[in-house]
Amino acid sequence: MLNNQFNMVKPNNTTSVINTELFTIPIENNKYIIYAPLRRAALIGNTGMVNHIAGLIDERNRNNSDLNNAISEFLRRLEIADGNPENIPVSNFEGIPKPTTVTLFLTTACNLRCTYCYAAAGDTPLKSMSFEIAKKGIDFILKNAVENNTDLITVNYHGGGEPTANWKILVDSYEYARAKAIEHGLGIIGSTATNGVLTDNQINWIIENLEGGVSLSFDGLPSMHDMHRKTISGKGSSEKVIHTIKMFDKANYDYGIRVTVTADQIQQLPLSIEYICSNFKTKNVQVEPHIKWEDGKKRQLLKQLTLF
Ligand code: SF4
Repeated sequence: MLNNQFNMVKPNNTTSVINTELFTIPIENNKYIIYAPLRRAALIGNTGMVNHIAGLIDERNRNNSDLNNAISEFLRRLEIADGNPENIPVSNFEGIPKPTTVTLFLTTACNLRCTYCYAAAGDTPLKSMSFEIAKKGIDFILKNAVENNTDLITVNYHGGGEPTANWKILVDSYEYARAKAIEHGLGIIGSTATNGVLTDNQINWIIENLEGGVSLSFDGLPSMHDMHRKTISGKGSSEKVIHTIKMFDKANYDYGIRVTVTADQIQQLPLSIEYICSNFKTKNVQVEPHIKWEDGKKRQLLKQLTLF
């Protein structure tokens, strides 16, 4: 990131200033995205341009050549140089927030034992949400939607474990939310995260009821998936997940795939993405790196955090 106020030389030799937050992101050989979000400006520049901008940090690197004056003039036109003071975006909320979306974390239970589970699901004390708690969340957003005069509520189900492991509460709470939404003349959208190890009845219910779609964890090539996403008995789970995906595809159901990539899988990532895109109809693939924090790094991070 190139930040703060960098001096540059105007064609008439008076001092110019870069007075905006500025980022340079390498994209390929000799090409960079130069991005000034608060000026709503983004452009592709070459190494020379980036060096020119970076060199302005250090007065010794100033260069008053015709070329650099042309670059400076261009930056002024974009208000990256010599612009008015930045308008920092500020969100002002007044009163008490009245959300119309609720995300219910239904359980810490899970039918898998992924090696990299962020929640240590299945191995932590079992906690499951009761219908009464789910109802409280749903009643809260319903009340807000009526008061806000909005026409839609959204109910999401997420982890801490596998949400479908608390299946009865998932179904009961969603059916309750839908009945109440209809009673108030509201629309409803539901969605869930899932590991995709589901029964056919569950898959069919999801297809018929959760219009907002599913975020499904699947690591691509079956060999990669099975390396880390194992059942309680230690078997790979790819076969079951692929079955779920095929049922979604057959029904033209909307789902996204979430790939977790570990250090030992990174080499295979392009093949995994290719495998997903050429075999299934998912609309998006989200890749999330899994990083194991060693104790030393954790301590370092904590030390950094305590500085703020
Ligand atoms: S499916 Fe999700 S919650 Fe279950 S063990 Fe794997 S990462 Fe954890």
